[in-house]
Amino acid sequence: MSDNRSLYATILGVQAPWQVTEVDVSPKEEQVTVTISSRPDVRHPCPRCGNPCPGYDTLRRSWRHLDTCQFKTVLIADVPRVECGEHGVLQITTPWAEPGSGFTALLESLVIDWLLEASVSAVARRMRLTWDEIDGVMQRAVRRGLARRQLGDLSMVGVDETSFQKRHEYVTVVTNKQGKVLHVADDRKATSLDEFWQSLTPEQLASVEAVAMDMCAAYVRSTRDHVEDADSKICFDRFHVAKLLNDAVNTVRKEENRALAAAGEWVPKRTKYIWAQNPENMPEDRRDQFERLRQCSLKAGRAWAIKDAARWLWSYATRGWARKAWKKWIGWAQRSRLEPMRKAARTVSDHLWGIVNAIVLGANNAAAEGTNSRIQRIKARACGFRNRERFRNAIYFHLGGLDLYPATASATHTTS
Ligand SMILES: [Zn+2]
Repeated sequence: MSDNRSLYATILGVQAPWQVTEVDVSPKEEQVTVTISSRPDVRHPCPRCGNPCPGYDTLRRSWRHLDTCQFKTVLIADVPRVECGEHGVLQITTPWAEPGSGFTALLESLVIDWLLEASVSAVARRMRLTWDEIDGVMQRAVRRGLARRQLGDLSMVGVDETSFQKRHEYVTVVTNKQGKVLHVADDRKATSLDEFWQSLTPEQLASVEAVAMDMCAAYVRSTRDHVEDADSKICFDRFHVAKLLNDAVNTVRKEENRALAAAGEWVPKRTKYIWAQNPENMPEDRRDQFERLRQCSLKAGRAWAIKDAARWLWSYATRGWARKAWKKWIGWAQRSRLEPMRKAARTVSDHLWGIVNAIVLGANNAAAEGTNSRIQRIKARACGFRNRERFRNAIYFHLGGLDLYPATASATHTTS
């Protein structure tokens, strides 16, 4: 028995004043129960001020630890409460677990490692824990990570909406230049973004040089309310402009197909994605198909040409040249007699100031776009989320670049 005790003292890293006092192996239940006690004469530090204090009483607690081979392993300890002259009666922190957790820090770290690779339900199954327990580890990890983090470089931030669950529910996601998620908020209102600006210090706010976003009035309003000189920093980047124009081409295509069908003519089928693709990315056979399509879909072909021309208007060095080129393009689109393109051109015209900002500041939302598709993958892996809170947590967990691990485990736990 004493061999078992010293074995567990060694592998658990139990140090004075703590000692392993009992190891109970139960083959029937496939469980090892390790009892740890503190020497009774020791004055433990107050968890608030660190001053050694006299003991008050003890409370029995237990923690699930890493398995011993196939045996579930549980630590039990009578954890002292100390009586601090200044802070009253408080339970001390143990070296193997964070306060409030029913798991040792090493077990939490292992759960975090697995959660980075698999869904909550898969990890729960594999680790013989409940879904709620695994979710609790994940939530604690995010809270810990958010409390520790430094936001770092805010010179260029991207704001985007991403869908949650149903079609018309959204969250707002703020990312940095590298696509790291800085903030997640419900909805896509001005107040959603306000939350982020209000979380920054005046120095952080002043360091913002460019804010890439959709042509969305709510985000513009929020940025104007919080960021100084916002009108020279708000950028409507090429990704969002391309999305607007692709949607317009698609509307032209649908209207044209409807008219062709009404006139009893041949209607090209399943061409939405062909019109959305750039010719240089098309495989050879697709390009032939595309050329044939342009011969018979005259309106969609014209709309596509207008959209395609806009792709080449993003590399001007000065505001003057950029504005001039876009105005020329807007004129062309407005003369096109294709109402969806004219409408898109009006939107571009109204937002030209921010498009010009994006061009001269070199703001692009490529990193945010990548983050958005990673968010959608996380959603797919989880088979959706029960509520936004969980969705928000998962985004921070996977894409927040946070230090997620319990501090008590960091000495022995190495992350890759
Ligand atoms: Zn104290």
